[in-house]
Amino acid sequence: MTHGQGKQVVTRFAPSPTGRLHLGHAYSALQAQDRARASGGRFLLRIEDIDGTRSRPEHVEGIVEDLRWLGLDWDDDMLIQSTRLDAYQAALDRLGGLGLLYRCYCTRAEIAQSLSAPHGAVAVYPGTCRGAAPRPDAPHAWRIDMAKAVALAALDGGPHDWCDEIAGVQRADPLAHGDVVLARKDAPASYHLAVVIDDAFQGVTHIVRGEDLRAATDVHRLLQHLLALPTPVYRHHALLRGADGVRLAKRNDAPTLASLRDAGVDGRALADDLRAGRLPIGFRLPDA
Ligand code: GLU
Repeated sequence: MTHGQGKQVVTRFAPSPTGRLHLGHAYSALQAQDRARASGGRFLLRIEDIDGTRSRPEHVEGIVEDLRWLGLDWDDDMLIQSTRLDAYQAALDRLGGLGLLYRCYCTRAEIAQSLSAPHGAVAVYPGTCRGAAPRPDAPHAWRIDMAKAVALAALDGGPHDWCDEIAGVQRADPLAHGDVVLARKDAPASYHLAVVIDDAFQGVTHIVRGEDLRAATDVHRLLQHLLALPTPVYRHHALLRGADGVRLAKRNDAPTLASLRDAGVDGRALADDLRAGRLPIGFRLPDA
């Protein structure tokens, strides 16, 4: 039985405070809140601010203001990831203790040069530092030895399936992601590590988020298994697009919610329109 079945539904919206929210964020947050409320469940807010180079405290205030303007209402205090570093370190220690991590000294430029991308596949790190002599004083990231991790999980029947409410049962393929980073040189945990730990910590049963994160779930499912965390149900929703079909998450000219508010748009009416699939002129959902 997965974590999501037979329990009160708990969802979350987990923005990174790296800029102002846009319509795509509003759509995602509404989907998450409504999924929980439709079954009498709880909706939580988490601020994913561990990327110290890009996160800005002033954007946290902006996120709260924008979500309130849309009429969103979360249970509990919001969880701030930068207060959770000990939990990430404990998980790294546990994975390290299983012999699954190695230090990576590569610079961004070296990684860019060495990325191997088999035709049509995602570029993966080729494992340059796997087996390198440790240089503890040199700045390093921690990577997971994916082949080793998958082999360990296989002892318990993994890699495992996961369930998407929209796409159905999915087979996790963590090997396709290569040796992903779990702690960065400049951040104590990567997105992959922090997200699985905090979803479990917050008791999230249903993860509602954009379909651009669907592939990452392969890695999350493996980490949940290795760290003995419950498996949530997933719901990866379609991403809003501009009239040209380019998704909002990829473009830098998507109008911010703040700019719509300044232009006199009513946030609650906008939320109702988004729920009903009535998008402002110039936006659309992909054809089903
Ligand atoms: N913080 C991530 C983002 O803003 C979302 C993480 C998630 O929903 O899993 O893209």
